[in-house]
Amino acid sequence: MTKNTTTINQSKTVQVNHWRYPRRVEVLPDQVALQVTVPSCSHCPTCQRRVRELTEVLERKPNVVHQWKWADGAQWIHLPRAKKQNPLQVLGEVLEVRIGV
Ligand SMILES: [Zn+2]
Repeated sequence: MTKNTTTINQSKTVQVNHWRYPRRVEVLPDQVALQVTVPSCSHCPTCQRRVRELTEVLERKPNVVHQWKWADGAQWIHLPRAKKQNPLQVLGEVLEVRIGV
């Protein structure tokens, strides 16, 4: 078994659908994480609607092992990713969103 010694995450800023503010993406060795809510704004109706939209998509995909996490004052969704998979493509396909860079 090989152990991944790289712990540096790749961070990107993307545009998601028509969402007003850009979002951060963190690429981890076997996961990709999308910042869904806006820091310090996570409980507003708009942020909560984003969470609900993605929750509804994921409810239709029970095979997708996902995790919601809090980081930097925002709510993030973590999805599994095979190393060869393009992280932005994973987000777009699994969450059914358009990711612009
Ligand atoms: Zn908000």
